[in-house]
Amino acid sequence: MELRKDPITRSWVVTGHPEREQERADPCPLCLGNGSQGPLLLQLPSQGEPQVRVYPHFHPLYRVEGDPGRTADGIFDRMTAVGAHEIIVETSVHSLTLPHLTDEEIERVLEAYALRAVDLKRDARFKYVTAFKNQGREAGEEWSHPHSQITATTFVPRRALYELRAAREWYRDRERCVFCDILRQEIRQQKRMVDNVGDYYAFCPYASRVPFETWMMSRSHNHQFEVPLPGESRRNLAILVGRTLRRLRSVSSSYHLVVHTAPNTLQTKGELSDYWATIAGDYHWHIEILPIMPARSKSYSIKEVYFNSTLPEEAAECLRGLHPTK
Ligand SMILES: [Zn+2]
Ligand SMILES: [Zn+2]
Ligand SMILES: [Zn+2]
Repeated sequence: MELRKDPITRSWVVTGHPEREQERADPCPLCLGNGSQGPLLLQLPSQGEPQVRVYPHFHPLYRVEGDPGRTADGIFDRMTAVGAHEIIVETSVHSLTLPHLTDEEIERVLEAYALRAVDLKRDARFKYVTAFKNQGREAGEEWSHPHSQITATTFVPRRALYELRAAREWYRDRERCVFCDILRQEIRQQKRMVDNVGDYYAFCPYASRVPFETWMMSRSHNHQFEVPLPGESRRNLAILVGRTLRRLRSVSSSYHLVVHTAPNTLQTKGELSDYWATIAGDYHWHIEILPIMPARSKSYSIKEVYFNSTLPEEAAECLRGLHPTK
């Protein structure tokens, strides 16, 4: 696998053929005790019967060994696909899904995201850590056993980079966090708000890219998901994640969920040294859920412009009316 940079958009593309052996769905490779899972990187709770288990990905996009050194290919930039790619098994119960888990169990899944992110960010080669989940076949789910993934990359993924740049500019102009500004307005207007538990809010963003796109974030400003504010627990966030996913279940069985957090500020090479000087004030972690609605997609796709057939105000109203409990 290698990374190639598009000189026009400055996006990195992972390209090559991942080693993919014949997929054996039976026995499920994520069920407890099915042998060849590789080294256990984390288990929660740490004592007794494990609920969450983390392994290196069986067919990784990125590999931990090696030097990410950029090489030139004529006018182009290329890097080896150095990074980390891990599987977070959310529960040992094969037939469950994340919104079926108890609040305490969902909190453990979020804690696993955070603990792995903290650990991976100790490696200064990695500029960004992404925790994400592909739920359902249409989302590119690899195994039906409930799981999330985490990647650590030597570049900041495109969407995260757009956000980081925009947040930094907003802060430079106004000395305020754009995400705090957005959430304050959403709370005041109550047009796109879906739910709220304690300090955490779920809402459909103003320019939702897909029907029922939902973001979750905390009213208290914090740039790093993996480092909670003093005295803060993730229990209320876990409750909100469960309630939101149970609502979305009636709308679509497939979705992408991604945690957007601050980049690795250990990186002091090149552009990143002063680049993130205001990061603690300008960025604000959040969770994005992008449901996949195949029936709604157009006969041709407009790849350059998002087309969303549902207004976020209608989506939020519909989600508010759906049952958030089991
Ligand atoms: Zn399984
Ligand atoms: Zn903020
Ligand atoms: Zn985001």
